[in-house]
Amino acid sequence: TESSPQESDHHTIIKNTETPIGESTKHEFQAETRMLLDIVARSLYSDKEVFIRELISNASDALEKFRYMTVSGGEDAAKVKDADRSLEIHISTDKHNRTLTIQDSGIGMTKDELISNLGVIAKSGSKAFIEELKSKQTSGDNNIIGQFGVGFYSSFMVANKVEVYSRAVGEEQGWKWSSDGMGTYEIQPAEGVQHGTKIVLHLKTDCREFSDEDTIKNVINKYSNFVGSPLYLNGKKA
Ligand code: ADP
Ligand code: MG
Repeated sequence: TESSPQESDHHTIIKNTETPIGESTKHEFQAETRMLLDIVARSLYSDKEVFIRELISNASDALEKFRYMTVSGGEDAAKVKDADRSLEIHISTDKHNRTLTIQDSGIGMTKDELISNLGVIAKSGSKAFIEELKSKQTSGDNNIIGQFGVGFYSSFMVANKVEVYSRAVGEEQGWKWSSDGMGTYEIQPAEGVQHGTKIVLHLKTDCREFSDEDTIKNVINKYSNFVGSPLYLNGKKA
């Protein structure tokens, strides 16, 4: 018999249902993204925990976009009619495998959206960051990462490999995006991808603290008041 999420093993709350299938394609990050990733990955910035805020805020945005779609009427609303999902953000820690996972049941991304959203810098924070770097001719100012907030890319401050599983509203096909942040990323079709987005961070050895539940709980407590969706950590309401 199935136990309720509250009673079951914490680490099974986020289920590993995804299986990559078919051919994987390799893509290069846009030059500016490469530049940013290079700095982010080597950053000695001390407030690395900000990546959690960035990922939670992206998950929250994705849920908000989904909610908007359901009430906006028209073609988009029709797509989500039968989507029966709880709009939540789940985070899980796995010390043994040194990973941190964050999953939302939001709007998700198509293959093209994965390429244009996670491969190119179009977003305000990251763009301003790059402009600042260029104007200062600097590559080592660690404080400016926190100042601008480099969004999704901040994952690479703490992770040496990031996997993104995503399936967009109304899509049958899900995708796996993965990168070590070193210039290229790969995209592969995957089966069993749930609607929304799941991000798995494989933490650097010196960032293993972020696979610890208490560490994450403390960080979440700083931000969760501002999150408009229910947030769970290892199956427990955060
Ligand atoms: P920003 O949030 O400022 O747009 P980010 O670097 O944080 O910049 O994210 C880049 C883009 O990637 C977002 O605008 C969004 O389109 C997409 N994205 C990131 N995370 C998610 C997610 N969990 N679900 C859906 N789309 C996402
Ligand atoms: Mg963001």
